[in-house]
Amino acid sequence: MNLDALDDLDRFPAYVYDLSGLRTHVAAIRDAVGGTELFYAAKANPDAEILRAIAPHVDGIEVSSGGELTHVRETLPGIRLAFGGPGKTDEELALATGVDRIHVESPRELDRLKGPADVLLRANLPLRTPNAALSMSGPFGMDEDALDACAARIAEHPHITLRGVHAHLASGLDAPAMLDLAHRIAEWAIPWLEARGIDDPELNIGGGMAVDYTSPGTRFDWRAYGAGLAGIPARLRIEPGRSMTAYHGWYVTDVLDVKATRGETYVVLRGGTHHLRTPVTKGHDQPFEVLTASGPESPATLVGQLCTPKDVFARDVPVPPLRPGDVVAFAMAGAYAWNISHHDFLMHPEPAFHYLR
Ligand SMILES: *Cc1c(COP(=O)(O)O)cnc(C)c1O
Repeated sequence: MNLDALDDLDRFPAYVYDLSGLRTHVAAIRDAVGGTELFYAAKANPDAEILRAIAPHVDGIEVSSGGELTHVRETLPGIRLAFGGPGKTDEELALATGVDRIHVESPRELDRLKGPADVLLRANLPLRTPNAALSMSGPFGMDEDALDACAARIAEHPHITLRGVHAHLASGLDAPAMLDLAHRIAEWAIPWLEARGIDDPELNIGGGMAVDYTSPGTRFDWRAYGAGLAGIPARLRIEPGRSMTAYHGWYVTDVLDVKATRGETYVVLRGGTHHLRTPVTKGHDQPFEVLTASGPESPATLVGQLCTPKDVFARDVPVPPLRPGDVVAFAMAGAYAWNISHHDFLMHPEPAFHYLR
């Protein structure tokens, strides 16, 4: 994408989504993973324009709440849906009639499921994932005892069909580590399913493909991943979120003030982490480009307008000389950015939204 598209916006801050780049990126993922079904995890960014850009290149959408379910159905009528997430209410389970797969999180949830339903049982397997950014253990999914209890109950319920196992165990792993994990899941899950009479076992091995915020040009190796998955003897599905949409969103804003306080330089930007919470939740410096200034760089901390010391986009990072009115574009703001942020804190105006088609 040409960054010039970002500095002639009429109002800051603004989110800019590069839909054309996103389509190309997702189509390449689709191509790389071959026979593996590709679902997009809507919780990474459920923006309707983003969903519409992605839809032609995926097999379906994974939703994690009744709200997402309703929104995706309205935005993409007829698209296949997988419904996961802990703590599903009776109302949510009722809404899920007709979804492609329900990911059951507990025996009690299974008991409340009326059906007809095709289910995957979400497994919480004791597989180590040493380099993961997040390990999805704790409340997510079920251990072997609970899985056995679910399988036994399903066998007595003709309106509920056991299709396979869902295992989203970690996030932030690179392709070799993800593949290793996938093979270890399959080694456990396929015999487990076969022993319960499932002769066409399905495995949803989740999302969590690594996104490296310290290196915006680095990408998860989808080709190696797709090739490595091809050897697993099951119907496979993946449901990435971040690695699909992170790269194609920008949060663009302008400088309001620059000041030196006790030896530190602070660049105060319009907006803040109530619009782009990602650097605070991830504890990183959000990558950025300065669009309107150049010259010798010196360290500064980029902050927003919130009255909290946590409102930091990037700390002690090299920037060229900046003045009020200069424009800064934060990259990698297409996933877990606007939609996870606390928009109403301090009641500043919301950003504008632009879509490059
Ligand atoms: C969040 C989530 C995903 C997507 O994870 P990413 O890190 O965005 O790829 C997929 N599956 C489940 C069950 C999730 O909770």
